[in-house]
Amino acid sequence: MCEFCTASRAPLARRHFLKLAMAAAAGLAIAPDAFAAKSKIPPKPQNVLSPNAALDRLMRGNRHYVEGISKRHDFLHEREPLSLGQNPFAAVLSCADSRIAPEYCFDTARGDVFVCRIAGNFASDEMIASLEYAVQVLNTPLIMVLGHGSCGAVDATIKSVKDGTTLPGHLPTLVAALTPAVKSVQGDPGDLLANATRRNVSMNVDKLKAATPILKSFNDEKKIRVVGGIYQLKSGRVELLT
Ligand SMILES: [Zn+2]
Repeated sequence: MCEFCTASRAPLARRHFLKLAMAAAAGLAIAPDAFAAKSKIPPKPQNVLSPNAALDRLMRGNRHYVEGISKRHDFLHEREPLSLGQNPFAAVLSCADSRIAPEYCFDTARGDVFVCRIAGNFASDEMIASLEYAVQVLNTPLIMVLGHGSCGAVDATIKSVKDGTTLPGHLPTLVAALTPAVKSVQGDPGDLLANATRRNVSMNVDKLKAATPILKSFNDEKKIRVVGGIYQLKSGRVELLT
């Protein structure tokens, strides 16, 4: 079952979120705090972290993954508390590439990371809405946009931009979303694919930071951090973009 349907602060929090969304859609100026979720003991108290502490934990988990010393997760005993809710300490906007597995690469378990995946890891309206839910309702303090080496979506966009070709099916939607990053680094020294991948991450970090009314407000008030990372396929290391 979808975890949205079993969120811990629901139904009250869901009502608040929907109320906020409807007000935002109506163009009303609202303070996100007005609809903050009611306090309740979270299923994973260890996930209640400041944005900086959440980032430290995420990167520490990546070091464990890189070194091959990932934790052995107790899926059995996690099941019961997580059936009542969730309070992930980080949200990750990742590419859909099967070689990228955010839960693994940060050495995290169920209920730790709120993962949104789309080829090219860009912030569509649906992705922003999902991240708003994580921040507003689940109190997630950290968002990472996670690109990766040899990204097929970025590579396809480069080819499309260079050749002027239109890809089949719905792929032009992806190309349209990734084209600004590709065009902004064309002519730069270095590898075009690597440069475009990094630029795409940084552009989407900026987009999330500016996403009104919810994410921008939380970011401006330093209640969340939004950061970018690049997953290296060979090493498994996530390089933090500054
Ligand atoms: Zn990719």
